[in-house]
Amino acid sequence: MSTPQLEHVKNLVVGCGLSGMVVAERIASQLGEPVLIIDKRSHIGGNIYDEKDPETGVTVHKYGPHVFHTNSREVWDYLSRFTEWHPFMYRVKAVVDGTEVPVPFNLDSLHTLFPRTMATRIEEKLIASFGFNTDVPILKLRDTKDEDLHLLADFIYEKVFAGYTMKQWGLTAKQLDASVSGRVPVRVGRDDRYFRDTYQAIPAEGYTAMARRMLDHPLVEVRLNANWSDVKGKISYDRLFFTGPIDEFFGYEFGALPYRSLDLQFRNLPREFAQSGPQINFPCNYDFTRQVEYKYYLDEETPHTTISREYPCAYSPGKNEPYYPVLSPENATLYNRYQQLASSLPNTHFLGRLGNYKYYNIDQCVICALRLFNQIGKKEQ
Ligand SMILES: Cc1cc2nc3c(=O)[nH]c(=O)nc-3n(C[C@H](O)[C@H](O)[C@H](O)COP(=O)(O)OP(=O)(O)OC[C@H]3O[C@@H](n4cnc5c(N)ncnc54)[C@H](O)[C@@H]3O)c2cc1C
Repeated sequence: MSTPQLEHVKNLVVGCGLSGMVVAERIASQLGEPVLIIDKRSHIGGNIYDEKDPETGVTVHKYGPHVFHTNSREVWDYLSRFTEWHPFMYRVKAVVDGTEVPVPFNLDSLHTLFPRTMATRIEEKLIASFGFNTDVPILKLRDTKDEDLHLLADFIYEKVFAGYTMKQWGLTAKQLDASVSGRVPVRVGRDDRYFRDTYQAIPAEGYTAMARRMLDHPLVEVRLNANWSDVKGKISYDRLFFTGPIDEFFGYEFGALPYRSLDLQFRNLPREFAQSGPQINFPCNYDFTRQVEYKYYLDEETPHTTISREYPCAYSPGKNEPYYPVLSPENATLYNRYQQLASSLPNTHFLGRLGNYKYYNIDQCVICALRLFNQIGKKEQ
């Protein structure tokens, strides 16, 4: 019996999400070398993948809502080569005691929920203590000796933060880490944008169209429905870029790295709009954390609409997606053990949310992939 021939590629990228696509695009366009990208999914783009719902015509984000935001000019310029932008400042509301208020909690939220004289008094104290238009961590509010500010901090903690976080991470109130809760900002101003970054937008034709353009190079080949576990041993390579889970790569040798997942439930509704804005959080009601209405993102005018609700749940390999690394000292130690193994492998690079076990936003993925590419270029000069 003849042994099947080993295929050789110069560069193999596992995972066609943003991290893998940036590295592949750079290698092909800057080094002039061929790249093969494989992905176990049936589509490109990884978690930023979007598609038009065939019934409503609304562009939905299959793996949950994605709003691009960054302060990095470098990232903005880089991605702008592959897309036009639809300017979009994210505005999120939370239902508190049955009423929608802006989050981060700001002075308008205060005036909506508190009696007038009390709200005015607290507003004056906030501005006097922290200045207008500042973001104050609620731990700092709690640290003040002022009774009103203390009360406000406790109110926001309980009504906006605790319920959402407990659902999101599957924690009890006791397990909530004060260092995380302490960072929740209170905005002493009326700026109701969720992010304050310089650049905030959605790719004008969607994320998938942007991804398609990133991959549109004669030296880039994409193979979908191709799992690393089926491919390894059959393809040899000069360089490997792995953007899948690092623990999976090493056969879970030290145990599995924990993730949280989401059960994302999409619904089409036979009316023009379902809610007052793109994202409504439900900290204290229901089992889902947030409800998103996608047509707001690209200002799509359609007679019907699509929403999604997010039910956080445990990650179970093979059953759902590893969305959020669970950051804790024990998990960091476990990751470091994998990372040590990884650094001993020649010509093998781990990157992205799953490869680095880090909660990266889109812009951080791009920055990390660009940095990695630059390091490789320098090493080989
Ligand atoms: C619910 C949610 C909402 C988010 N919203 C925002 C937001 O609003 N703004 C923002 O900036 N960021 C957001 N992010 C973060 C953003 O999704 C990530 O930063 C980015 O998409 C990660 O890109 P990546 O390439 O590192 O990983 P991924 O996109 O996960 O890509 C990894 C790819 O590897 C493939 N793969 C894995 N294992 C294998 C294997 N064994 N064989 C072959 N292929 C494999 C996967 O199929 C996947 O396509 C959000 C994340 C989540 C989970």
